Amino acid sequence: MSGQESELQRCFARVGAEHGFTDVNANWERFKEFKATWKRCSTSAELHITDYMKDSGEDLITDLARGIFGRMGRGGVKEIYSEKLKQHFLSPEFILRNQPLYLRRSRNLAYAQQGRVHDLRTLEQDLHDLGLVKRVPHAYISWTKGDNRQRVGYCSVIMRVVAISRVLDRKEIPSFVPSYVLYHELIHLENGLRFGSYHDREFRERERIHPHHEEAERWLRRIVADPQFR
Ligand SMILES: [Zn+2]
Repeated sequence: MSGQESELQRCFARVGAEHGFTDVNANWERFKEFKATWKRCSTSAELHITDYMKDSGEDLITDLARGIFGRMGRGGVKEIYSEKLKQHFLSPEFILRNQPLYLRRSRNLAYAQQGRVHDLRTLEQDLHDLGLVKRVPHAYISWTKGDNRQRVGYCSVIMRVVAISRVLDRKEIPSFVPSYVLYHELIHLENGLRFGSYHDREFRERERIHPHHEEAERWLRRIVADPQFR
């Protein structure tokens, strides 16, 4: 067992014991997304913890264990991250260590802002110039490799990665369509980690500020329905 594994095991066993678990088994897992999974059976628990938390130190791993065991319990606490953990996610160390790893694990990224037709850098710049979004440090934006029509935009808030589906990178699609989808994802980035609804009323109101909101929505409905975009 490596030093890091025993640190993880130690933290989770200790916190688990506070919650009545006598047999705790915690392992690092190379999940693409930042997540943890667990199985419990009476007083034993088996946990798989994202390895993006490796090297973050005993205090933060203990905080994460408290959050997870808190959620596992009855009437589970919803909030899984302590203030200290949230600060950690916002730190340059966290993003500089983990974003490259996340990008390597993302199989569907083109790793390019310049598409065949539309340039995401230009679209992003225009959104800034219009005062619609603020800059988020270390944000990484890319087209996807595949033409996904159902999910035209994707955002990992914690890894600060935004992906826009290549299906929108076509000459017959006006640039305000990818601009609108990019805008939607950049609002998520700006809002940061949240608990509860990501698309709350405030979000929807902000979305409508985009100058082509309605036209873009119409286009997106068409792209989902129209076989030519398959
Ligand atoms: Zn969204």
